[in-house]
Amino acid sequence: MPYGPTSARTVPLPKGWGVIRKRILKRDGFVCTWIDGGMRCSVPATDVDHIGDPADHSEANLRSLCQPHHRRRSSAQGGRAAQAKKIPRKRRQEAHPGLL
Ligand SMILES: [Zn+2]
Repeated sequence: MPYGPTSARTVPLPKGWGVIRKRILKRDGFVCTWIDGGMRCSVPATDVDHIGDPADHSEANLRSLCQPHHRRRSSAQGGRAAQAKKIPRKRRQEAHPGLL
């Protein structure tokens, strides 16, 4: 693995994060809000995730997740750039059959 578990976080958490975190967990009923294939995860939530902008700590941008889902999401965010490099671009260079 070329990236660690903390590499995705480039914006520091705010001073009152502990309070915000508790408020979000309470709002979501302390249950993970991850939805996969139309089914909501029912595992107790322990983490609070930023849906969009990691610097936006408003309630609309935060949701409760269980640890496995939060890890999965964080690693997806950090690995996006590395993954893009792996995709070969050969297909774009193929000439259109109509142009031959
Ligand atoms: Zn979950």
